Amino acid sequence: MDLTDRVAEHTRTKGADLVGIASADFFKNKTEEHQRPSYFVPDAKSVVSIALKINDAILDFGLSSSGDLYSPRHEVYTQTLEGYLKHYIYDQLDYLAIETSRYLENLGYKSFPIQARVTDWVEVRGVFSHKAAAVAAGLGTLGKCGLVITPKYGPRIRLVSVITEAQLRPSGPTQSSTEEICGECSKCIEVCPINALSYSKDTGTTIVDKMRCWKLTLPGRCGLCMAVCPYGRQEPLQGHLWI
Ligand code: SF4
Ligand code: SF4
Repeated sequence: MDLTDRVAEHTRTKGADLVGIASADFFKNKTEEHQRPSYFVPDAKSVVSIALKINDAILDFGLSSSGDLYSPRHEVYTQTLEGYLKHYIYDQLDYLAIETSRYLENLGYKSFPIQARVTDWVEVRGVFSHKAAAVAAGLGTLGKCGLVITPKYGPRIRLVSVITEAQLRPSGPTQSSTEEICGECSKCIEVCPINALSYSKDTGTTIVDKMRCWKLTLPGRCGLCMAVCPYGRQEPLQGHLWI
């Protein structure tokens, strides 16, 4: 078993659902310096991308709230999702990033665990793009929802990254495009209660009005664009008004 396999196995053993490796070279032309791995680790060679799956039952419950954002059922959903992300998923992702970075540092490679949570409340984003790292590591493709669509779990995941000096074997980048993955589907755009998603067919990219999205269900969390995506759903959700 080589170093890459040992790192991936260690991270999975600690609880990760998906692990991939991106080459640090993938980010070298990024204009913002904090989107380049060398900003965190001067001799960075690889980025480990780690995903945790979100519970299906919570997301499916959100879809069954009959389209009424102010119903008690929708309130239960948004507050459950917020609590679950805030008190479990982000803590676990940070734990996995720290565990992975410690494993690599014990082998002699400086390794920086990037926080899973949003740290820039002006742009509503993290200091380093976990989504860009996941695509570069081959974990999935950006969908029209602006989230990474993975083959196994669709967009029902959250991500974290570790930047390391270790020269690991890249598992990406993903070759498929948003158009190939989504085709004519636009369920995520249609379900958004505040029209925060705008997809351009010409550029194949989505702009997300993150500030409006984030404020929509405070103190809860919306996530309907993630819940409605056919990728990653265990069963069709016919009969729900959101579909
Ligand atoms: S989380 Fe909700 S408000 Fe935000 S983009 Fe998705 S559907 Fe729209
Ligand atoms: S809901 Fe449809 S359009 Fe949106 S990301 Fe999923 S497959 Fe793509």
